[in-house]
Amino acid sequence: SVEESSIESRTRSARRGHKGGRTDSPLVADVAVRVPESSSEDEDSRIMGTWNRRKAAILKRLPPGVDEHAAKQILNEIVIQGDEVHWSDIAGLDIAKNALREAVVYPFLRPDLFMGLREPARGMLLFGPPGTGKTMLARAVATESKSTFFSISASSLTSKYLGESEKLVRALFVLAKVLAPSIIFVDEIDSLLSQRSGSGENEATRRIKTEFLIQWSDLQRAAVGREVGEKDRERGDANRVLVLAATNLPWAIDEAARRRFVRRQYIPLPEAETRAVQIKTLLSQQKHTLTDADISVLIGLTDGFSGSDITALAKDAAMGPLRSLGEALLHMTMDEIRPIGLPDFIASLTTIRPSVSKSSLRQYEDWASEFGERG
Ligand code: ADP
Repeated sequence: SVEESSIESRTRSARRGHKGGRTDSPLVADVAVRVPESSSEDEDSRIMGTWNRRKAAILKRLPPGVDEHAAKQILNEIVIQGDEVHWSDIAGLDIAKNALREAVVYPFLRPDLFMGLREPARGMLLFGPPGTGKTMLARAVATESKSTFFSISASSLTSKYLGESEKLVRALFVLAKVLAPSIIFVDEIDSLLSQRSGSGENEATRRIKTEFLIQWSDLQRAAVGREVGEKDRERGDANRVLVLAATNLPWAIDEAARRRFVRRQYIPLPEAETRAVQIKTLLSQQKHTLTDADISVLIGLTDGFSGSDITALAKDAAMGPLRSLGEALLHMTMDEIRPIGLPDFIASLTTIRPSVSKSSLRQYEDWASEFGERG
């Protein structure tokens, strides 16, 4: 509908290339409200106004059983000025991108084609070492499928929001249906669905886990339409809500929960070619002297680096030309600053080291062979 698309607002790129805003708000980051790339500030504020009215309308007519405070929290802690991530922002990971296109993007855009046998999965797990682009992928899926993006850190549910978490979980799933198509991105899902949390060690945590699993099952049931007397529209909405979860500790997820993720996609460390693409992208806006040969040297030196390690390296190297200047930099023009060169990267490599150890990498590979799809 018109209103539906007008609340889709785009998010500014202030945090592009950073940890997708998950630290800004401990509970929910980024329900992106999108508009086209070209939108002006005026357009943005108009859309914000529309979104505020829409929020008010939702809160006024909350479905029964949904706690108003929890609903407010979900809607307000949605970071509207988050930023969009597109497939092209993510280096490599073609297999994962294709899997996500088929599992989420196309079914969300063309639900009529994905019914019956082609019914999309309700949950997908992205696993792998930290800093490999799992969060970026989730955000890109939301952008490309024109979905509302709910981003929750599972660890905040089990710590900071412990007392209110069950209500929050309930409100979350209801609002995801109201604002469908929706992606519920749960980061650090291991802290919610771990074996430990199921075995009664912590009663409150166990209750949140149970609530989460119940809500998720309801979604699955509603999606396949087994509920008696259910309205088609509700079924359609549930059909376009997906739980996308990420973890760096896939082995911590208990078996029953693991099986609910029909799709489990391994997000590995970047290959040489992917590192080259990422480095070139990072340098593309900068004055630099790196040739293709220099980049090849760099690729050889960054084996075992994650995407976020590469970003950290490039940021540090970019400081190189300024470091030797000291206070003088305050009086220099842009043109007087020397370009970034390979030696800056080499110097940065002494302090920026790969964050994933060889032994933990083997653990991911083993888990992927046993339980995952290769990315
Ligand atoms: P994860 O969720 O797997 O821990 P993120 O998606 O949060 O990792 O990535 C952290 C940061 O590392 C990103 O903001 C980006 O700067 C960089 N990064 C990681 N993987 C990639 C990639 N494939 N392409 C481009 N940048 C990446």
